[in-house]
Amino acid sequence: MAAEAAGARGPGGARSEAAPHFTLERGSEVAPRAGLLRTSHGLVRTPAFMPVGTAGSVKGLSPAEIRTAGTQILLSNTYHLMLRPGADLIRRLGGLHRFMGWDGPILTDSGGYQILSLHENVRLREEGVEFRSHLDGHVEFLTPERAMEIQADLGVDVAVTLDHAILLPAAPEAVRDAGERTLRWTERSLRHAATLTTPTGLPQLRFAIVQGGGDPATRAEMAARTAALPCDGFAIGGLSVGEAKADTWALARAVNGALPANRPRYLMGMGTPPDLLDGIAAGVDLFDCVLPTRNARNGMAFTSEGPLNIRNSAHAEDSRPLDERCRCEACATLSRAYLRHLHQAGEILAHRMLTLHNVTFYQTLMREARLALERGEFDPFVDEFRRRYRERPAAPIP
Ligand SMILES: [Zn+2]
Repeated sequence: MAAEAAGARGPGGARSEAAPHFTLERGSEVAPRAGLLRTSHGLVRTPAFMPVGTAGSVKGLSPAEIRTAGTQILLSNTYHLMLRPGADLIRRLGGLHRFMGWDGPILTDSGGYQILSLHENVRLREEGVEFRSHLDGHVEFLTPERAMEIQADLGVDVAVTLDHAILLPAAPEAVRDAGERTLRWTERSLRHAATLTTPTGLPQLRFAIVQGGGDPATRAEMAARTAALPCDGFAIGGLSVGEAKADTWALARAVNGALPANRPRYLMGMGTPPDLLDGIAAGVDLFDCVLPTRNARNGMAFTSEGPLNIRNSAHAEDSRPLDERCRCEACATLSRAYLRHLHQAGEILAHRMLTLHNVTFYQTLMREARLALERGEFDPFVDEFRRRYRERPAAPIP
């Protein structure tokens, strides 16, 4: 696998057209697409969902469980790993795959979004962004070049360039300013990344973030200008930050309509199961979201009939599994009544089993969506899913 993927990028970072890292198997620019992404640690059949392993761990699951849930590729966070345990330590130990015991593909974000969303006193200038560690208060300075060095040290399969993210709504001048800076930072990131090596020597793919705020025309312009840069794929940033859902998909379509069909697109940080299907319909190939893992720890399970909250007293004597259709360990062996008891008693097993179930549910949905795409039956598949899936008002998630 590694030898095959090694051809995707030659010495010095030049991309080879003879060994493409992404094959579009069905679909086009703005359409539901099925594709094949080749990485240094294996193939990813898209559309695909990446569980979030913030600190090098999908909270509560072992690597074997992450794999059993149907995961092909997972996401980890540059920001958290750079602060603890540090990218240099992970490099000395052979890279993130060996460190966390996961031999499949890994994508890391660039850290930009988390710095801007987690910190009030961020000083952003053209050179980079300065912030204080949330762990011990020491000052860190992240530049586009440093973001790529950290991800090279981690040895991940897909690195993402540093962007200047902003929250919507924002003034058009602020959106333009952040978008132009993102393009300049993308160029710097890609230029520097071409000089770096991973701890294993295996090649790394680089995705560039497309910004552009809430205006479809600006988004399309930024997408086209990003596509002119030598990146291996694209990350759509700055969506689902306060705008209406219909606007989210209009913006995603504007971006994807301006991107070349033969490179993958990753929609950052969303969303619910229906969101994933809407995203696929808008031409997205890769997703990540904390919902299946974070909500599991709060007692929420995603099922084919919609979300349910295991804390609800209605489940107190319910001997059924979370989801009759699911084949995860929790659904094969444990009842809703028992899982509710575990959650009420604060037992770690409740968090583990709900997380295992939710990740399995997301991965099963993506696998079935991909099979429907291959059959040319994506729309009927979505109709059938929506007929069963009910968004019901759940108890507030703390
Ligand atoms: Zn299950």
